Amino acid sequence: MKYVVAFGGSRRGIAALPAGTTRASVAAECREAALALMSGIADGWDKGELARWLAGPYARATRHCRHGERTFADAGAAGSVEPAAVEALLRRTRGRLLAALEKAALAGGALAFAGEVVARGLVRRATDTHGEDTWLPVDVPRTGLRDRVSALFVADYLNAPDAYAALYVCHRCEDVVFDEDARTLGMCSRHRRMSGIEIRAGARAVSRANGDD
Ligand SMILES: [Zn+2]
Repeated sequence: MKYVVAFGGSRRGIAALPAGTTRASVAAECREAALALMSGIADGWDKGELARWLAGPYARATRHCRHGERTFADAGAAGSVEPAAVEALLRRTRGRLLAALEKAALAGGALAFAGEVVARGLVRRATDTHGEDTWLPVDVPRTGLRDRVSALFVADYLNAPDAYAALYVCHRCEDVVFDEDARTLGMCSRHRRMSGIEIRAGARAVSRANGDD
């Protein structure tokens, strides 16, 4: 019912997006928000940083499909929850998503959990200004953090499936990247910078600076 109100006049469950919001822009926002959380957790994010992410990048990415009030409790991070419990939730969430993304990377970029996320209504189809089918992450009340982040990845995946052929999880630093070279070489760009060729390039720069050339 809320959809009919929110997207009055459109076919049930299929919304028309505002001008300027495209399949590509939705995909980009979803990926940016999801990757920001993943790398933030790796950097040791705490409860406050989770709250800022929920109110910032996550709220932006889900603004087209928001259902009522979202509280900390919805994300499994209620005010009464100890900071240590929130940090454990963050690490658990990242660990499970990393495992799922790694599996997808090995499967040529196919997100196995996409079907379940669609079936549960965590993403919804809409139409962008060019008439393109566009998948939106839904801000569903009483949904855990892992499902919310999964919805961001699935919306990105369904909107930009080709990009997922370059999905790669670095085995050294666990960075999630979309980088064909990282897949081929088996390491993210951060680790490529430390690789032989680039070390030699650095050594040349040092020797030039020292007037050795
Ligand atoms: Zn790496």
